[in-house]
Amino acid sequence: MPKRDYYEILGVDRNASKKDIKRAYRRLARKYHPDVSDDPNAAEKFKEISEAYAVLSDDEKRQRYDQFGHAGMEGFTQEDIFRNVNFEDIFKDLDFDFSSIFDIFGFGRRRRRGPQRGADINYKLEITLEDAYTGLETDIKVPHTRKCPTCNGSRAEPGSSTRTCTTCNGTGQIRQVQRTLLGQIMNITSCPDCNGEGRIIERPCSNCNGTGLVKKTSTIHIRVPPGVEDGSRLRIPGEGEMGPRGGPPGDLYVTIKIKPHRLFERKGANLYFEKPISFVQAALGDIVEVPTMEKPVKLRIPPGTQTGTTFRVKGYGMPHINWEGRGNLYVKVRVVTPQKLNKRQKELLREFAKVSGDEIKKEKGLFERMKDAIIY
Ligand SMILES: [Zn+2]
Ligand SMILES: [Zn+2]
Repeated sequence: MPKRDYYEILGVDRNASKKDIKRAYRRLARKYHPDVSDDPNAAEKFKEISEAYAVLSDDEKRQRYDQFGHAGMEGFTQEDIFRNVNFEDIFKDLDFDFSSIFDIFGFGRRRRRGPQRGADINYKLEITLEDAYTGLETDIKVPHTRKCPTCNGSRAEPGSSTRTCTTCNGTGQIRQVQRTLLGQIMNITSCPDCNGEGRIIERPCSNCNGTGLVKKTSTIHIRVPPGVEDGSRLRIPGEGEMGPRGGPPGDLYVTIKIKPHRLFERKGANLYFEKPISFVQAALGDIVEVPTMEKPVKLRIPPGTQTGTTFRVKGYGMPHINWEGRGNLYVKVRVVTPQKLNKRQKELLREFAKVSGDEIKKEKGLFERMKDAIIY
């Protein structure tokens, strides 16, 4: 199959800037990385876009390619092509793991790959709005794997010996040179006999069955800062799962979930509260009490307030997470129309209507109302 044009693969113009090329590559990489894609050809596609990126992001290689096309790249090994690409830098802010990238290309990094880092753990912590207001210190119990205390993670029974693996001569790697039309490809794979460690364990540790890891539930003290937002994540380094074969541990991420509050709604640092008032209070004005996250405060309702009017109570919102001070409390008044009036109250309202010049029709009896309903 003929090789596709690198520009076409990335979907960019021939005069695309380095920035455009990087953006296009990141977008496609996110789609085709075999860790995240269901596409059965994902690995091939990922390799294809990565190669296109490796060439077009390098001034010298791009110039060669522009001039001579794929023929210009003849004699370059895969390792040559990828030499100056820093994938870790490109993908550092993406959520998924790109450490397996070199396995996809079928060649190793120049240095021997270190032990793999353990997985991160996600933990959900539900707190109240009050907790978010004051900040919170609490202990959480997190099940995770830790280093086996018996063998100290070495996987070997204490006192037993280990020997150098003869299959790979202790390098942990098997190298195979493959000749292709595009040049030599060095395939480096992990040694199957020693699992890439270079050493063979004679007697595995009996406490951890030779895994070097044990399951443990740890109590971890965490500090939730005042003003924390719903959905924010606290990172606790090193409290994730241990890495396999002596790799460093991953991190623990605590996601904060704030329960809905019975009185307040929150938007950022501001709180919102709805206060029902009577139409008399709205008309004449009054001083009412409104709740806050601390003690209630007095709010003046000016005469002639309309329903839906919002008042600001300055500084009674949530603490700002990154700077001093607090947001505001917004109080929206809702004028409540009275429903069960007694005779005297009705008389007074009719009197009120009369002096205001409003004509109020007398209430019909139940029988008349039913009749109206039938006619109309
Ligand atoms: Zn052990
Ligand atoms: Zn080996």
